[in-house]
Amino acid sequence: MSYEVTIEPTGDIIEVEEGQTILDASLRQGVWLPFACGHGTCGTCKVQVVDGDADVGDASPFALMDMERDEGLVLACCARPESDLVIEADIDVDPDFEGLPVEDYSATVAEIVDLSPTIKGLHLTLDRPMAFQAGQYINLNLPGVNGARAFSIANPPSASDKVELHIRQVPGGAATAYVHEQLSVGEELELSGPYGQFFVRKSAPEDLIFIGGGSGLSSPQSMVFDLLEQGDTRNITLFQGARNLSELYNRELFEELAQQHDNFTYVPALDAPDDGDDWQGFSGYVHEAAIAHFDGHFTGHKAYLCGPPPMIDACITALMRGRLFERDIYMERFFTAADGAEGAGRSALFKKI
Ligand SMILES: Cc1cc2nc3c(=O)[nH]c(=O)nc-3n(C[C@H](O)[C@H](O)[C@H](O)COP(=O)(O)OP(=O)(O)OC[C@H]3O[C@@H](n4cnc5c(N)ncnc54)[C@H](O)[C@@H]3O)c2cc1C
Repeated sequence: MSYEVTIEPTGDIIEVEEGQTILDASLRQGVWLPFACGHGTCGTCKVQVVDGDADVGDASPFALMDMERDEGLVLACCARPESDLVIEADIDVDPDFEGLPVEDYSATVAEIVDLSPTIKGLHLTLDRPMAFQAGQYINLNLPGVNGARAFSIANPPSASDKVELHIRQVPGGAATAYVHEQLSVGEELELSGPYGQFFVRKSAPEDLIFIGGGSGLSSPQSMVFDLLEQGDTRNITLFQGARNLSELYNRELFEELAQQHDNFTYVPALDAPDDGDDWQGFSGYVHEAAIAHFDGHFTGHKAYLCGPPPMIDACITALMRGRLFERDIYMERFFTAADGAEGAGRSALFKKI
């Protein structure tokens, strides 16, 4: 049994199986709807039911208020159709978004690498190739862990039968503890993807700034590899932030790339170098490294930020003070359950600055 859901204003029609959410069905059929948290707490995927009936599911009362429910609003990530539906969504599809369908994959753990004391590199071989855009993420299921966890893909799309992840252990986190303490080579895992709106706007002519903090190097790594593989000639500057030298991983890889490509510049920054660290590079936060490198003026760039929410907020402040606008800044916030719904939404800084 399935229901037909028509999405206005685009007129896309999707089939939604009984018990399936509207969001899950749309992503799997390559039809994009805006969303962030995926489990009813942030409200990004709010849509209007124009015709038909839907069960609102587990939408949080804060994300979908009683008055909104009465007006026929639902959250696409929780709502399940009870008849054929017509819904109206606030869709603003970017021309560079490929809308690749989400599918389920089986993956075998091929290699686990200690990238730093807190970050593991996880190399998975997929049961079949997955088409994705550099910067997107997967949802990974781990044994004994309730619910899937989001991790960004670090390899470029050209290596489509592989997934490389950089996974930081979160104190008190079940999934990241499993990866760091129990996962072994040869194990089979389930994942779904690709997800996300963090991808390079390749049709935009501006030079590119990438800023990655901690394991937030993952997406920028995929994006930089992809651009250089494709012979992109724009100036590309990658800033990598880490606490100390032992946390600064893949440095040699990017130093080598910078040697090979005149249009690629790599700037690592350590904010708390250890006394014993032999460090001649930038000391300070990664957004301070960007300010110093560009003398505080970022006009003429598109910036892509990836990492923990506080780093992203510091970078947005620096970039906007340096004359970049909201339309020039793209980001992937590595929020965890501890950040709750607040971590999932659009940056509050965009409204303040
Ligand atoms: C789009 C996206 C991409 C990401 N990509 C990456 C990546 O490439 N690499 C990476 O390292 N990370 C990435 N992350 C972050 C990663 O998803 C989280 O670190 C991961 O989900 C943590 O899972 P966990 O089970 O270990 O911790 P969780 O169980 O989620 O717990 C995290 C913390 O929250 C606390 N907590 C749990 N539940 C609650 C609650 N209800 N209220 C308050 N606190 C709570 C826990 O005690 C713990 O301290 C990404 C996140 C997003 C959203």
